[in-house]
Amino acid sequence: MWNLAEGLAERRAAGLERRVRALQPVDGVRVHDGRRELLQFCSNDYMGLAADQRLRAAFVDEAMCSGVGSGASHFVTGHRPVHEALASRLAAWLQRDQVLLFSSGYLANLGIVDALVGRRDQVYQDRLNHASLLDGARLSGARLKRYAHGDMEQLERSLSRDVEGRRLIVSDGVFSMDGDIAPLSELASLAARYGAAMLVDDAHGLGVLGETGGGSLQQAGLDQDRVPLLVGTLGKAAGTFGAFVAGPAVWVEHLRQQARTQIYTTAPPAALAAATLVAIDILTEETWRRHQLQALIARFQAGAAQLGLRLLPSPTPIQPVLVGDAGTALEASEALDRRGIMVSAIRPPTVPAGSARLRVTFSALHKEADVDRLLEAMADIPVLRSAESA
Ligand SMILES: *Cc1c(COP(=O)(O)O)cnc(C)c1O
Repeated sequence: MWNLAEGLAERRAAGLERRVRALQPVDGVRVHDGRRELLQFCSNDYMGLAADQRLRAAFVDEAMCSGVGSGASHFVTGHRPVHEALASRLAAWLQRDQVLLFSSGYLANLGIVDALVGRRDQVYQDRLNHASLLDGARLSGARLKRYAHGDMEQLERSLSRDVEGRRLIVSDGVFSMDGDIAPLSELASLAARYGAAMLVDDAHGLGVLGETGGGSLQQAGLDQDRVPLLVGTLGKAAGTFGAFVAGPAVWVEHLRQQARTQIYTTAPPAALAAATLVAIDILTEETWRRHQLQALIARFQAGAAQLGLRLLPSPTPIQPVLVGDAGTALEASEALDRRGIMVSAIRPPTVPAGSARLRVTFSALHKEADVDRLLEAMADIPVLRSAESA
């Protein structure tokens, strides 16, 4: 029997039902839900580029020049000169030999992990890695060894046991629901010591961290000799859409030949690549955006400490406020919504049971006054302030 309705009702009763809302952007940080305007703190558009006029112009120009759809996969007729230009620009920015473009980060991670390891191999992953990395390991059939979040001792114990096959250590650079940065230097040292390759998915670090926005690996000073595989997504700080892997020529060429999620899918529109090229110029040159984010984060952390909010320790624009219970997190999110502020409640299975939270994110386009409005609204919601709320 297909008791789908029963399953849906159970999810709803447990406060785990997800709902989608149609939201029209008003500006970089405000949306309209059809009835009223909301100030949002839940986008991944950290640098405020998704609605930038220069990106729009580049997108439209390229669409007028070469059309909307690419018509086929990269290997057939979908690969454009602007895709070449984007791959070269990304490689130069991140100081990697080569770059291979993917249609999305989810597809990139599935295809890359699957192309690198198989049944006799081992993949080591942080428990809080993004779903696409875990799914990639499952697809590959490799043995998946998950270690507790950031637990390098557990990882080392695991590495010191196994001997056969290839070994791949996989980690988010910045953890998407917690905002903290992986212990990248320790991971790279363990990888070197135990002959493992390493992949870092820097979806939330790219553009945000590092001197020229090169991400968590740039900030940690880890080059492609120490970390061969750097995955970046373009739908977050770059404000567009798509993803890529960057690394040494032979690694990227292997993936070009083997990554099924790149080979058997339509190439992304050329217009997206044109807009992304402009985004990279802005990410490298407009350093005020990274400075503004740091100022907003500091202001929020100081205000949250005064209110007694339970923040997770995070140096990035992802600033989670721990609530505990899924239903309570949802109620807090709804209470903020009634005050004209949008913050998403993140519940299991996205995060471990008992660690439901409000995931606050900042954009370089938020103003100090926006942070103050958020804090004032949170001050009005008792469950966020009481230490016993979990
Ligand atoms: C968002 C995200 C992805 C998926 O990227 P898309 O381009 O949105 O498919 C992959 N990894 C991490 C860590 C992410 O946060």
